[in-house]
Amino acid sequence: MTGGYAGKILKIDLSKKKIHQWRADEALLRKFIGGSGLAAKILFDETAHSVDPFDPENLLIFMTGPVTATRVPLSGRYQVVSKSPLTEIYGESDSGGSWGPELKKAGFDGIIISGRASKPVYIWISDRDVELRDADHLWGMDTYETDQAVKDETDENAVVSCIGPAGERLARIACIINDGKHGRAAARCGLGAVMGSKRLKAISVRGTGRIEVADPEALEDSVKELAPSIIENARNMHDYGTSGGMTTMEYLGDIPIRNWLLGSWEEGAEKLSGQTMAKTILSGRYYCSGCIIGCGREVSFEDEKYGRVEGAGPEYETLAMLGTNCLVDDLKAVAKANELCNRYGLDTISTGAAVAFAMEAYEHGLISYEEAGEIRLTWGKVDALLGMIEKIGKREDGLGWLLGEGVKRASEKIGGVSAEFAIHVKGLELPAHDPRAYYSQGLSYATSNRGACHLQSLSHIFERSVTLPDLGFPEVQERHSLNRKDELVTKAQNLMCMFDSLKVCKFIMFGGVKPSTLVEWLNLVTDWNMNLEEFMRTGERIYNLKRLYNLREGISRKDDVLPPRILIHKKGEGGSAESLPPLGEMLSRYYHYRGWNELGMPSEEKIKELELEEEAKFL
Ligand code: SF4
Repeated sequence: MTGGYAGKILKIDLSKKKIHQWRADEALLRKFIGGSGLAAKILFDETAHSVDPFDPENLLIFMTGPVTATRVPLSGRYQVVSKSPLTEIYGESDSGGSWGPELKKAGFDGIIISGRASKPVYIWISDRDVELRDADHLWGMDTYETDQAVKDETDENAVVSCIGPAGERLARIACIINDGKHGRAAARCGLGAVMGSKRLKAISVRGTGRIEVADPEALEDSVKELAPSIIENARNMHDYGTSGGMTTMEYLGDIPIRNWLLGSWEEGAEKLSGQTMAKTILSGRYYCSGCIIGCGREVSFEDEKYGRVEGAGPEYETLAMLGTNCLVDDLKAVAKANELCNRYGLDTISTGAAVAFAMEAYEHGLISYEEAGEIRLTWGKVDALLGMIEKIGKREDGLGWLLGEGVKRASEKIGGVSAEFAIHVKGLELPAHDPRAYYSQGLSYATSNRGACHLQSLSHIFERSVTLPDLGFPEVQERHSLNRKDELVTKAQNLMCMFDSLKVCKFIMFGGVKPSTLVEWLNLVTDWNMNLEEFMRTGERIYNLKRLYNLREGISRKDDVLPPRILIHKKGEGGSAESLPPLGEMLSRYYHYRGWNELGMPSEEKIKELELEEEAKFL
């Protein structure tokens, strides 16, 4: 077997209660790597284009990468891929913690789940032994409770990935949580609801094996040489987490405030910052498996109003979406809101967007006090934030149920002018980076294969502090400029496909690691002789494969858009007061750079170059 791979992928049909093992051949692995790339290929090949996300025929795929559970630093992540019930196009999400490495050490690179169990089940994997177990008694438990209950029944050292009540009740913004109270989440695209539709409550894994790599000594030497500089360069991430840059982001006009309407809130950002957290509720720093940065936050406090809160603390995205975007600046309240989302199994980004959307609809009289379940949905009101999260998590009838459908569907139902402030792309709510602050993110959100997502390119970091000399960007790029945005976003998206397929945390770039180092590590693990060109072409192939999946679903240029508020509404204050992303021009240049036509479809030459002829036959 090629170094780095466990060599087997589980196929579990929950309808038939059948468990098989499958081996991907080396040619397929070299073409699609693992993680996101391999899972996208399987989803593309094995599901019909019209499949309903909640149909038993839809697949739910958990996949690790070739460097998972090796000495490659920050390689503790895994990918979940399915057709998204939120966007009804290609859906993927990734999570950290230790579940991915544990699966690999148990002897499996991934799990492909099909069908629907006749009653709730969970999967127990212990060093190549796999069984389906009854989960009737777990149904209804929150994710932290589920984690402990499953470990009690399987192995205290097992790692559990599971859903909460939101996923069970098919909230389209439901996530999958692993590592219990550490609250690591495969958050985006509503994949927790796909798991719920399959009546799969949890997957518990215990693995004690080792992953063989081609050249362990050289890999060890390379990692040892780079580790000190990675730790030093990313010290701020360690000390203050992803919210360490909160005040800088506010200064630049990057943070969403009051449902993306305002441009400045210095005091709010300060109160929610990583620096404030470090001085108040922070109890520890969390490292995913194999991580040497430790950007995760752990919090602990007891409060009269919020009770005891202990475990995963809010990250930047959560602080911005549940905090500033709802005009809430109470750090303890956001930590409580984060815990509620984790326990119910809700994506904090989509949930924050949904609550802010509801607050604005309430302000405009489109939702009444009665319709809100007797909650005054006033901006900045903590009770409103926490109360609505409870209603969404429990899928209570009325507004709680509706917001669990995501802001796109909620605005379609509420009507009136609500579409003006339903902030999403292709149905996925915007994460907390404003395209008016970073033009490249405007292009990236519009074209991202899973809907609005900053992680599909992470391009704003190349307009803020990080360089990409290997790929022709030796300087930090100008954020409010059209210059080379087509090339930057294309290369960044292709590169992120490789991060998501190798399964390396993208934050390693804050440690100074460049693409050429990833190529070196991949070769040392697998014994391949890939060069940077093949590496980037592989990322491009994977990106185009996901685009083909979406084209098959009817996506084209008409869908590569931004919400009106982001596209045509100037904030008028703060660090991006007068800027609007020039999307039309960026999009045309981007299609041209990608070798796509004006409708956003890859040309015949591009398909041939990427060896995607089979997949593109439907075009
Ligand atoms: S940097 Fe943060 S998210 Fe990335 S692997 Fe480390 S702890 Fe996990």
